[in-house]
Amino acid sequence: MSDECCTKNQDVMILACSGASNLGQLANQAAVELTREGFGKMFCVAAIGAHLPTFVEAAKKSEGLITVDGCAVGCARKILEHADVPLQAYVVLYDLGIEKNSNTNLIPSEVEKVKAAVKDSLKGRMTTVSVHAGKSRSCCG
Ligand code: SF4
Repeated sequence: MSDECCTKNQDVMILACSGASNLGQLANQAAVELTREGFGKMFCVAAIGAHLPTFVEAAKKSEGLITVDGCAVGCARKILEHADVPLQAYVVLYDLGIEKNSNTNLIPSEVEKVKAAVKDSLKGRMTTVSVHAGKSRSCCG
């Protein structure tokens, strides 16, 4: 088995608000790209909002949950609150200095900024997330 997969935070769950603004779509695009790059997996925040038991339980069990909201309205955070899912790492893109607008033609440098912030949100707390004995969903299990 390759050791590489164990270094890529395969058990990290990324919840993006995916809202209808540049910030919501930046959150979404960052989650998509990080998933493609092997840094965690994007997860359906709408399914948690719909209180679908499988999704809610998976989020509750996650030890590497990153919630990414575009702005201070905090929709993804509130969805977690309503479903009694504890907030773990949390990123608000507006706090990164990106102004909210309705232009969904994303700026690549801003996508990279968001991806870096999402990764930074886990620093110091996620070093063993991919190697939980007996319950890993990754190839390390
Ligand atoms: S947090 Fe802001 S950008 Fe995201 S869905 Fe809510 S209002 Fe839209």
